Amino acid sequence: MLSAEIIAIGSELLSPNRTDTNSLWLTDQLNRIGIDVKLKTIVGDDDARLEEVIKDAVKRSRVVITTGGLGPTEDDITRKVVARGLGKRLSLDEKVLEEIRERFKSYGMKMPERNSRQAMVIAGAEVLSNPNGSAPGLYLEHDGCAIALLPGPPREMKPMFANHVLPRIENLAGNTRFATRVLRVAGLGESAVDEKIAPIYTKYENPQTTILFNSSEIEIHLRAHGRTEADAEALLDDLSLKIESELGNAAFSFRVETMEEVVGRRLAMTEFTLAVAESCTGGLIAQRLTSVPGSSKYFIEGVVTYSNESKIRLLGVDKKLIKEFGAVSPQVARDMARGVRHKAKTDFGLAVTGIAGPGGGTEEKPVGLVYIALADDAHTEHRKLTLPGDRELVRWRASQAALDMLRRRLI
Ligand code: AMP
Ligand code: MG
Repeated sequence: MLSAEIIAIGSELLSPNRTDTNSLWLTDQLNRIGIDVKLKTIVGDDDARLEEVIKDAVKRSRVVITTGGLGPTEDDITRKVVARGLGKRLSLDEKVLEEIRERFKSYGMKMPERNSRQAMVIAGAEVLSNPNGSAPGLYLEHDGCAIALLPGPPREMKPMFANHVLPRIENLAGNTRFATRVLRVAGLGESAVDEKIAPIYTKYENPQTTILFNSSEIEIHLRAHGRTEADAEALLDDLSLKIESELGNAAFSFRVETMEEVVGRRLAMTEFTLAVAESCTGGLIAQRLTSVPGSSKYFIEGVVTYSNESKIRLLGVDKKLIKEFGAVSPQVARDMARGVRHKAKTDFGLAVTGIAGPGGGTEEKPVGLVYIALADDAHTEHRKLTLPGDRELVRWRASQAALDMLRRRLI
């Protein structure tokens, strides 16, 4: 498969306050034409290091895209260093110089002398015009490697890539197309997921499988290539079906749906309604559910009953239960779920009560102890969770587990 690499140039990209976003966009563009990005490098405005990177890049990759370092200032070294790395001459192109001059003139300005270095062209390179800035790009082929030098600012880089680089490289890959899919899993840890599915996915080189942990869910990323997009999708179908059947109910999303979207879709489909009573999640579940368009069809109300008094007054939780078992207890979680369901006259009542921390934990009831409960007309179920993480993570994970409990009930 045709492999590309991207080199992001600029010392600011190695600082804590700037990110290389160009390579994300470029990777997407390259993938669309069947070119796989095998390596990305971020290098500062550093002659020696950039030269090393360039030399290696042209040896190992068929396509090399650099961004940044084409400006007029002393620290913009891309042209000079790439020319040196490839052993090619760099010379002033009068036509390009004239264009840059004209550009300044059109703004009623005289071209500063240092901008003339932007008219330096590597021998054998084509000049790529830049209608959005003063730095022209360069494109050249060297020992079977296609090299494009693009400006750093995204609003200059993107149109230059689309208009000048894409047409030059889009046929290189021939018949290769990619397809990707994300499977999301709830209620199982990373190792447990891998233990189940590694025997399946390690048999495949295509699709490629990556497992990621994402605060309260595991994501399984599949990426396939084929002669057409449909071929690649078929490969994904085959593997994801095997993975899904191994994971059973734990796999909740096969396209990019979130947990709240999956729950929402099922509620809408079944025409059941829901009310939520939250303590430690402080409205997070309601917020997540109502972020889904159309949620008014099934989400009737959410109450944040943070204090004991509020649990009693708004949900009708039995005062004696709080006194005897405490607010963070299975008994109170169950009473909250029943209570909110009864008050809102919904099919389901979902409740959460727990200790998000960092304070408030005891030996008997540590931080991260959370009870979730779900009530319908026939019965009430609850689960005890002991969640790791800081306050935000405990709250997020509690909301995820509660939504997941409802999702499983709706299957
Ligand atoms: P340049 O003068 O060509 O080195 O580009 C300078 C500006 O482009 C920087 O101030 C950044 O804002 C932006 N830039 C450069 N490289 C990148 C990158 N890889 N991703 C996003 N922005 C970039
Ligand atoms: Mg720069």
